[in-house]
Amino acid sequence: MKEQVWLQELIDHLHSKHASNFEGEIATYIPELSKADPAHFGAAFVTSNGSIVEAGTADVCFTIQSISKPLTYGMALEAFGEDEVAKYVGVEPSGDAFNSIELEKLSNRPFNPMVNAGAITVTAMLYQKYGDNTFHEIMSRFSAAAGRQLEFDEDVYRSESRTGHRNRAIAYLLLNFGMVPDQVEAALDIYFKQCSILVNCRDLATIAATLSNLGKNPVTQTEVFDIDRVKDMLSIMFTCGMYDYSGQWAYRVGVPAKSGVSGGVMSVVNRQLGIATYSPLLDSKGNSCRGIRLCTDLAQELGLHVFDCMNAGSSYLNAMLENN
Ligand code: GLN
Repeated sequence: MKEQVWLQELIDHLHSKHASNFEGEIATYIPELSKADPAHFGAAFVTSNGSIVEAGTADVCFTIQSISKPLTYGMALEAFGEDEVAKYVGVEPSGDAFNSIELEKLSNRPFNPMVNAGAITVTAMLYQKYGDNTFHEIMSRFSAAAGRQLEFDEDVYRSESRTGHRNRAIAYLLLNFGMVPDQVEAALDIYFKQCSILVNCRDLATIAATLSNLGKNPVTQTEVFDIDRVKDMLSIMFTCGMYDYSGQWAYRVGVPAKSGVSGGVMSVVNRQLGIATYSPLLDSKGNSCRGIRLCTDLAQELGLHVFDCMNAGSSYLNAMLENN
């Protein structure tokens, strides 16, 4: 297929352009994450009609970490509806670090579901609905989006559970304000587990392509997320997904995205493409340095920015997809 060859050349080119860049640091605040290999750098693209291309260490598994957050947010919206979720979590960018200990004034809600406070609240809501089945529900949904049965990393989970004092502090602050129910330790435990789910770049790009394809996995054709909730998930990724780099990301790359502290970045080009990168070297805001560079180049090269004049349903990629 013409589209496949063309995308393979593009991903190879972008990967080799940034592979020798070793700027950034591996996250160490979760001790187990410090074992990551700085040479690992993978990328995968999955189109909304199911073509897959990969480059570098695209099959190396890493923990999903914060990239789990938009997915559990979507699940909570489906389970409770927008109004109920909005009582407990806002949708405003915080302008602060992902793990900051702060809540909105007056409402005492976390600013949004992409910072830890918001994500812990969302998981606590899911726990209210699914009880002891919650992690199973999360794992099944993520697996359906990835198109294969995923697993979680027991060592990373234990490492974070043992050292996650800051997240515990956030959870107890939320409890103090009545934003989460009493079983806060159970919700935290599930949050640590959901962050430890293992994915590789192909999985992550397939999850992204599921979101780009309005909630339907384009490889397996399984309906994974409610079409109406995908809009909400992508909106919050667009405004808050890259933490306090979200404004610059929107400006330079211009597509919804979510990063994780183990080094993954998932980006979604609406109705066109799912993009995943993995490199554990992070900048000071906790985003993967190589991931940002590769996505910035890709967006410029293809005119993927949502407001790019080349886009408007007529980007190079769109034209290519339509001709196949
Ligand atoms: N599990 C991590 C934490 O809660 C997730 C943070 C991230 O990926 N930025 O600190």
